[in-house]
This record gives sequence, C-alpha cells and structure tokens, in this order.
Amino acid sequence: MTSPLAEPASADPYTPRAMPQLNLSVIGTGYVGLTAAAALAHLGHQVTGVDIDEDRIAALGNGVVPIYEPGLAELIEQGTAAGRLRFTTDHAAAVAEADVVFVTVGSPTTASGRADLSYVDAAIRQIAPVLRPGMAVVVKSTVPVGTSALLRSLLDDLRPGLDVDMVANPEFLRQGSAVRDFLHPDRLVVGADTERALATMRQVYEPILTAETAVDAVFTDTTTAELIKYGSNAFLAIKLSFINEMADLSEETGANIEDVARGIGLDPRIGPAFLQAGPGFGGSCLPKDTEALLYTGRAHGVSSRLVAAAIDVNEARKRQMINRIAAAVDGELDDATIAVLGITFKAGTDDLRQSPAVDIVRRLIGHGATVKVTDPEGIDNARSTLPAAEYFEDPYDAIADADVVVIATEWPEFAKLDLARIAEVAAKPVLVDLRNLLEPAAATAAGLTYSSIGRPGRSGSDAR
Ligand code: NAD
Repeated sequence: MTSPLAEPASADPYTPRAMPQLNLSVIGTGYVGLTAAAALAHLGHQVTGVDIDEDRIAALGNGVVPIYEPGLAELIEQGTAAGRLRFTTDHAAAVAEADVVFVTVGSPTTASGRADLSYVDAAIRQIAPVLRPGMAVVVKSTVPVGTSALLRSLLDDLRPGLDVDMVANPEFLRQGSAVRDFLHPDRLVVGADTERALATMRQVYEPILTAETAVDAVFTDTTTAELIKYGSNAFLAIKLSFINEMADLSEETGANIEDVARGIGLDPRIGPAFLQAGPGFGGSCLPKDTEALLYTGRAHGVSSRLVAAAIDVNEARKRQMINRIAAAVDGELDDATIAVLGITFKAGTDDLRQSPAVDIVRRLIGHGATVKVTDPEGIDNARSTLPAAEYFEDPYDAIADADVVVIATEWPEFAKLDLARIAEVAAKPVLVDLRNLLEPAAATAAGLTYSSIGRPGRSGSDAR
C-alpha cells in the first residue's frame, strides 16, 4: 500500500519500527484525536482511541472513517490491520494498561469568549479512577494558559497523593493535511513540569525527533506550552486580517493584492503563509482561540489590542462579503438565486465549523435569496447545518439559473470548471470570486462579469 504521507516523497522514514513501543490511549477521536491515534500507531505504539460518541466508535469498528482527512483512512486501516490501533467507548479499559493518556476532546468557546473546558474536565474525571503512578496525562486540546495547573489540582482532589505527570502538548496540525502535519511537524511543543514526563514524551515522539528530517522541539513548562499555542493562532489571525485590510487598500488604490502579498511574503522575516486575502478567517481554531486569548488577557489585566483588532476586522469582513455579492445583483438579494461554490471552511476538509461560506449562505438566506450550494466534501454536514439551502453534487446543477455564482471555498476542483459553460448555464454570467481562485483574464474571456478580492477589475462597491 502506498504511504499516505506526502513527504519525504521517496520513503516513509517511520515504518515499520519495532521500538520504541509505548501503550497510549487517546481520549476523543475527532479531527485531532483520530489523526493522533492513527499516526502514533504508525510510529510503532500500541494505541487505543476512546470516544463518548457510540456511533463514531461503531463506525470505526466497521472500518468507516467518520471524517474526511486525506490519508487518514489508509493509516487507520494499516494500524488496525497491524493490531496496533483499536477503538472503544470504555475509558477505564483503554486507560488501565496505558503509559500515556492523550486528551484530545473539544475546547469550544462560551458566549463570553472564555474557553469551555467542560469536555476536558469530564475526560479527566472519567480517566482519574484508573490512572496509575508514573503515568503521563497529556493535554493536546487547545486550552488556556494555566489549564494544566488547574487539571493538576483537579487530579489532586480526585486522587490525593497520586503521582502522575501533567503534560501540555499542543497540536499544530492543519485540517486537510492533518496526517502529514502530525508525522512531519514543523515543530513539537512539549510542556511538562518533571524530567520524567519530558523523557516519556521524548520516547513517544522518538521516531520524529530522530528522523533525518528532525524537527525543532521546544521542551518547556506547561504554562509556556499553553501560551505558545494561543500565541501562534493569534499571530496567524492577525496576519490574515492584515492582508485582508491590504486587499481593501489594493482595491481602492488599484494595486494587485496577489503581488502585494507575494512581495511582502518573500521577506523571510514575514513568510508567505497566511497572506491569502479572502472572505475572512474561520475554522474550528482561529475564531475560538483568538476569543479565548482575549479572555485570558482580560483575566490577567493585560490588553491584547492587536488580537482584538484582528477579530473586529474579521467580523466586518463577513458583512463586506455580503455587500459585495449584493452589488453583483444590483442590491436585489431578496429576488436573487445565488450559486455558492464551497461550504467548508477551507479546501481539503468536510469541516464546517465557523466556515466563512456558512456565514455567507446564512446571511444570503436571511436576505431572502435562494441559495444553491455545491461542495466536494461538505454537503452531508451542511444539510443539517443549513437546511434552507439547496444542495447539488454537480457544480453545474448548482450554477444553473443562478443570477450570480460565488466562489466561497478554494477547492481546486472549482478552478478546473469550464468557465464558458458557467457563463452559459447561469441565468446571468456574473461570478464573484472570494478566494481569488480564477485568473481574471480567463474568466472575462469566457464571457463572465468577474470580480475578485483586491485585484484590478473588481466591480461593485462594498459600502463598508
Ligand atoms: P472534534 O470536535 O472534532 O473532536 C472532539 C471529539 O472528542 C469528539 O469526537 C467528541 O465526541 C469527543 N469527546 C468529547 N468528550 C469526550 C470524552 N469525555 N471522552 C471521549 N471522547 C470525548 O475536535 P477537534 O477538531 O479534534 O479538536 C480537538 C481539540 O484540538 C480542540 O481543543 C481544538 O482546539 C484542538 N485543535 C484542533 C485542531 C483542528 O484543526 N481541528 C488543530 C489543533 C488543535
């Protein structure tokens, strides 16, 4: 079987490895937990994935992978076939034999912006009775600064005198390339307050730490590790809001944001990543983690004005996108049929959490528009999230009779659509490209009235 790992292209440096082999359990089998479980089994460990969602565990038991993530199904199949990976709903059974327990449950935001640690708390309470002295409890969920210390006291209350280590090991994988990111990370961050725990974590990641393409690792204390994760996501959010403001300025001055971003990103002190102008940041991490960082700042009397501004810019951005689409239908949204290409928060995933496309569709429907959605992986999830939209597997069926076509997610599939056919089947040949996926000249040559983000030739005004 071909390796699901894209790099290094020649050979997967990690398979098969007899040693080191630890017994690990992973609590929570979502995007992070399932990827971590499969990848850790791939590194040679014995791994049990645990979830409270019985349907999810039943599906995994039947070889069905409940989320879309490139390469993940193959890795799970390999791990289970090799007898190194299994799944259960029984926390006690999974943890009883483990050397290390990873906690990978969700940490959403409450209405006040505070991180909701109820899932983490519940997971700790579930595993506490079966923890043994010397084990490491590793929090991979993104949690506010100080959470490891809080969980330490919770464990002290639940199991007085129990000698286990708390570890903060934030995850930096990106959905859409989660398997590759986990196995070939650009860095490992491990926070622990004892040498024993740091040594255990070195053993967990030994194949990655000693590979030819060895990663940089930060071994530090738990508080620092927690802040590294929030700081990273806040910085990325700031970058995105910054480039979106630059896109607005490009539009008003006649500059081209693509070249502006490239020119800025070529500076190695800045780098090209997260400089793509678009409809605003979304997903399961940046919106909630920036809010949680603001909350932490407030709790400690430290202002986080840059992060607050990044959030404000992003909120305004969502409204701007609607104004842009409205301009393309002469302000008549209530009477318009709108084809939306892409509903996931980015390409390569089936995840809709905080997707800018979902926000756009919801607002368009709120304005009375008829919205026809297509997406390569997101339709099943979208049906329940946005039942008022219409869904089409075939993009041309979504586009048929539309007054305007909106590219909302940067799926490469949409870049390959036949532009002349779009112009032909749509009611009006108008395309608003919120991801700068198409070449303006090609779209115009195909007969489309084309507008995009921060590039010359945009029509309509945003009325910011
Ligand atoms: P998710 O919602 O996809 O998965 C969470 C899983 O945990 C669900 O399957 C849920 O049923 C399960 N769960 C909840 N309580 C449980 C319990 N007590 N015992 C067992 N299972 C339980 O979430 P995710 O996207 O995988 O994110 C998990 C954490 O990782 C979050 O803190 C997130 O911020 C962080 N993170 C996510 C990403 C990402 O790209 N998704 C990247 C880095 C970090």
